Amino acid sequence: MIVCDLCGQAKECLQKEIEGKEYDICPECWNPLAEKLTGKGRVKKEREMVFLPSVAPEPKPEEPKPVPGEPPKIWGGLGRPQ
Ligand SMILES: [Zn+2]
Repeated sequence: MIVCDLCGQAKECLQKEIEGKEYDICPECWNPLAEKLTGKGRVKKEREMVFLPSVAPEPKPEEPKPVPGEPPKIWGGLGRPQ
């Protein structure tokens, strides 16, 4: 049981975040409030959410490129060591 921030009664309150503050609000108080809030307010932009770590795309590791230059040597047949 949590004391509702709105009506002050100990009820099964829900934790609601409004304008960056958390409130414990029971369903009886929350429902009319939610109806009032419906369609209002602004959508939060992700970058304003402080608790999220900034998600930066990880740099992809570069694949080692084959070194241009010498052609592959082919040993065979000729010049066998004795
Ligand atoms: Zn209440």
